[in-house]
Amino acid sequence: MKRAVVEEDRVRVGVFGGTFNPIHIAHLRAAEEVAEHFRLDRVLFVPSANPPHKTARDLAPASQRLAMVRMAIAGNPRFRASSLELRRRGWSYSVDTLRALRQRLGPRADLYFILGQDAFREIDTWHEYEQLFWLAHFVVTSRPPHGAKAEKSLLPVAVRSRFCYLPGRRGFVNDRGYRIHFYDVTALDISSSDIRARAARGASIRYLVPPGVRDYIARHRLYR
Ligand code: ATP
Ligand code: MG
Repeated sequence: MKRAVVEEDRVRVGVFGGTFNPIHIAHLRAAEEVAEHFRLDRVLFVPSANPPHKTARDLAPASQRLAMVRMAIAGNPRFRASSLELRRRGWSYSVDTLRALRQRLGPRADLYFILGQDAFREIDTWHEYEQLFWLAHFVVTSRPPHGAKAEKSLLPVAVRSRFCYLPGRRGFVNDRGYRIHFYDVTALDISSSDIRARAARGASIRYLVPPGVRDYIARHRLYR
């Protein structure tokens, strides 16, 4: 009885980072499916202000990328936009974001760090990446052309020995109880790079982004 109360007391918070340059419907759909499956109370969309891995050429200002995120998630009571990385100086590192959220949300919150398989494959290039696995659960979503296969060889070598397989759960758990889940979402082969390329040549981006985002891009002449 006591255990059940404790379990219900916990808050499950998804953290979905990205450049969101711009946010598109595959981001939204992936977050929706993850929130539903993992029974998340909310999902924070955290646009990266100064992404260490992206070149600045056609990167819209962080404030505009945040404005588009806000517009895209309006009306979804579970989704929130976070300006956390815009308020910090220097490079935007996920490890700093997760630490800040841990601090702010306190011990009752369970963090679920959401990212696509393509991003997860490069995680060993991220700043202090090993720490990430001791701050949050991971949900690695499929992204065309990759399925979300749960294979130990996908885990970074440096942390592999600390995880063991979760039978029947398509995932792994480490010695502190943090899990890595591999989760298949509806395959939508959409990318922000493709949307920017279309906008640049004056082609339609309708139905790839929410209507408000499309209007915003047109009005502010982004990605021309
Ligand atoms: P870009 O082409 O500029 O890299 P992107 O479409 O990859 O943009 P990001 O902002 O880089 O978008 O991605 C944020 C997160 O969303 C990443 O973890 C990425 O793997 C995930 N993601 C992006 N597009 C998809 C998609 N079509 N399906 C599933 N996950 C996606
Ligand atoms: Mg990307």
